[in-house]
Amino acid sequence: MDYLIVGAGAAGVTAAKEILKNRKAGDQISIFTDEGYPFYYRPRLIDCLSGEVEVEDIIIHNQKWFEDNDIDLHLEEKIIEVDSSKKLIKSKKASYQYDKLLLANGSHPFVPTFSGAELDNIFSLRTAEDLKTINKAAEKAKSAVVVGGGLLGLEIAYNLVKRNLKTRVLEVAPYLLPMQLDQKAGKLLQKKIENEYLAVTCSAKTVGFAGLNKVNKVILENDQLEAELVLISTGIRANTKLLENCNLEVNRAIKVDQKMQSSQEDIFAAGDIAEFKEKLYGIWPPSIQQGKVAGAVMSGREASFEGYIPTHKLKVAGINVVSVGELNKEGNYQSEVLLDNQNYVKVIKSGQDIIGAIIVGQYEAEKELIAEIKG
Ligand SMILES: Cc1cc2nc3c(=O)[nH]c(=O)nc-3n(C[C@H](O)[C@H](O)[C@H](O)COP(=O)(O)OP(=O)(O)OC[C@H]3O[C@@H](n4cnc5c(N)ncnc54)[C@H](O)[C@@H]3O)c2cc1C
Repeated sequence: MDYLIVGAGAAGVTAAKEILKNRKAGDQISIFTDEGYPFYYRPRLIDCLSGEVEVEDIIIHNQKWFEDNDIDLHLEEKIIEVDSSKKLIKSKKASYQYDKLLLANGSHPFVPTFSGAELDNIFSLRTAEDLKTINKAAEKAKSAVVVGGGLLGLEIAYNLVKRNLKTRVLEVAPYLLPMQLDQKAGKLLQKKIENEYLAVTCSAKTVGFAGLNKVNKVILENDQLEAELVLISTGIRANTKLLENCNLEVNRAIKVDQKMQSSQEDIFAAGDIAEFKEKLYGIWPPSIQQGKVAGAVMSGREASFEGYIPTHKLKVAGINVVSVGELNKEGNYQSEVLLDNQNYVKVIKSGQDIIGAIIVGQYEAEKELIAEIKG
């Protein structure tokens, strides 16, 4: 059996490990990645941004691991076509025949149509290669602007500050983390993370960038800001371009069922490129879970993915943040604020039942409160 896997990230490599458990004589496993590094812990690229950790320190499996397990790892080999009618995939170097194919080719940063986005020193962070380029530019910079005040944008800013760059976060919403928090919590989080080096501007609509070759200004709807280095963190999109001619059911990503099977029997998808019940998770733990299921099913075992409930306990730029269940944005429920000064704790209730909570900062009874939440 020829197992081909596109993508040597969380989903792809986890699937390969599952296939190994059930490998039969003659089975061949090949993994392709357009990156130059073998499997690494992508979320920790953030730590590499501060200069505290090197990319080499976050590699989970090096090339030797792939050799020892007789997995054919194709580094820096981009797959450019999937031909499902002939059951083969193509790179510029060669074509490869598959019996079972796993598409685990992840996602890429989404950059809105900003004018001047092609100027030098404007980056997004997705790969180890991006990281190296950003770090090189950051060595010469004293300040940075991060466009996007979501979880990733705030972590990026926090780590740029660690390397002594004066950093400003621009968030288009009126407060930080609008998906996870209410206004009061978002404002308190802002107060907690702002310091001499880290500033936040909310309700800031970025429209573009200006400069000669290098960026030197961020253009906002009603303002302009000096900028030496810009990091754009405005979401991700699944890498669906590869699938344009391959006759798969694709919505925002490849539609899969509980077995991670696509609309074609021998093609599976897992991780950021997979859409399960209209959900794209875009995070590490479900990518691992989906990779496990895909690898097991591809190699003939039973397994199913039942969905993933994200944990709502987060550390945001070093601050404890909890956001669980109903957040009462529409004001349909009663809510009670238990603490609201240095720390913020809001409990949302339906009758006697607690159905949601927001915490920013420390709360002694946090564990008990989360355990009480119903629904
Ligand atoms: C900076 C950063 C911080 C993050 N922090 C967190 C966090 O704190 N918590 C969390 O849960 N998640 C986090 N994530 C998200 C998490 O890393 C992803 O959800 C996860 O890596 C997805 O795994 P995947 O295997 O689907 O895709 P990926 O890890 O993206 O792997 C896909 C691989 O396929 C390769 N590829 C793509 N197209 C091709 C092609 N045509 N040919 C060959 N190879 C190809 C890609 O280059 C990549 O190597 C973070 C992501 C980033 C970028």
